[in-house]
Amino acid sequence: MAADGIAQMMHALKDMGARYVRFELPDLHGIARVKVIPIAKVESYARKGLNFYGGIVGLDTASNVIGESGLHGDISYADQQLVPDPGTVRAVPWLPNTAKVICDARWAPDQPVHASPRSVLRRVLDRAAAMGFDAMFGHEFEYYMLDVATKQPLFGGVHIFNATRNQYMPFMDTLLDTLQDAGIDVITHNVEYAPSQFETNFGPAIGLEAADKAFTFKNAIKELAHRAGYLATFMSKPATDMAGSGCHVHVSLLNARDGSNAFAGAGPNGAPMNPLIRSFTAGLLAHMKAIQPIIGPTPNCYHRLKPHTFAPSNVSWGVEDRTATARIKDVGHANCHVEMRAASAMANPYLSAAAVLAAGLLGVEQKLELKDQAPGPSEENLALEPLAPTLEDALTAFEADAPLRAMLGEDFVKVFTAVKRAELARFRATVTEWERNEYLEVH
Ligand code: GLU
Ligand code: MG
Repeated sequence: MAADGIAQMMHALKDMGARYVRFELPDLHGIARVKVIPIAKVESYARKGLNFYGGIVGLDTASNVIGESGLHGDISYADQQLVPDPGTVRAVPWLPNTAKVICDARWAPDQPVHASPRSVLRRVLDRAAAMGFDAMFGHEFEYYMLDVATKQPLFGGVHIFNATRNQYMPFMDTLLDTLQDAGIDVITHNVEYAPSQFETNFGPAIGLEAADKAFTFKNAIKELAHRAGYLATFMSKPATDMAGSGCHVHVSLLNARDGSNAFAGAGPNGAPMNPLIRSFTAGLLAHMKAIQPIIGPTPNCYHRLKPHTFAPSNVSWGVEDRTATARIKDVGHANCHVEMRAASAMANPYLSAAAVLAAGLLGVEQKLELKDQAPGPSEENLALEPLAPTLEDALTAFEADAPLRAMLGEDFVKVFTAVKRAELARFRATVTEWERNEYLEVH
């Protein structure tokens, strides 16, 4: 079967006229780690696996080798193998005769690298499948376009949805075309609520395909901006006084037998939400602080989660409530889903999907009851528990959540916590610009 898939992939590559193929591995941070392979070598690497440094997933945000991940010295810096997922092969429209394919990582045939983000999502999707569900996700990204040299916005003002600003640089037209040529089904595009901040949305998809699309989208925007002489950033809060960049994760469970939306339809006695979406949302909220290091994976992400910014600040849900962490959309209708608004644009889209699904499934498994919430914007409700205020607090909650850890797999948990703890130690050891500005001259 796998061999047939590779034969089909080779046909597709021939039809595209590909002379080079990128073998892409999503790393812990959602960034593509890539080797470029000339077409003559592709089939043999696809069949036997492409050797690739085995510790990629154990590198931190600055590519430091984190020994405690267990993926470096402990295994003598051994290789893993990349094997292409043939269904993900696509042309790279901005490069001549070049294609890309997203890969899975394995130590040997039938020995997946369980800590690799694509494997983590697959593991949670398998858990959903065992319960009779597929999962549909939509990742909704915000990002800034900046000047490469100054790292400042390209234009000022916050006139959101403004027709001129939506397409302010000619590059934005090219970007939308190129994304679509790369297989991203763009559905909306607009300038956001900050100087040269944008939001470009694409359609949802089922299972791995959704995260593959989000991964391709993000990496394509970074690369295309760079080629056009701009800097695109998904950093959560690039400046203290400008809006954060979120990645709202939209999720619904589908009945595997017929593909229908299991969140659609009312509950008993005319209740607007059915018991499944209620227990899923209750699970999401019960495990929210524990999933925060995954959906907000850097210290910077926590600057974003403040009241009156349209980012959530407490553990909350609400029908259509734009200030809630779990915003329930289209209640009772065919498109009914949960929009989880706490995730940062920096989050790895495989891991944010895995974490949201895992937390929701735990709620379904345990038949958790969703507590009533007062009407009105959740952010004004001081009775609600605040979200974890720092990465450190969030990591502590994650480490203490045994059912969530089991759902995501201990191999992943070991690597993830080792890398995040090491990043935090480096962060804490750094003298900041704020300290220099505040103390140096006057004190
Ligand atoms: N930028 C906001 C955030 O950080 C979201 C704005 C919106 O509602 O689209 O989540
Ligand atoms: Mg937005």
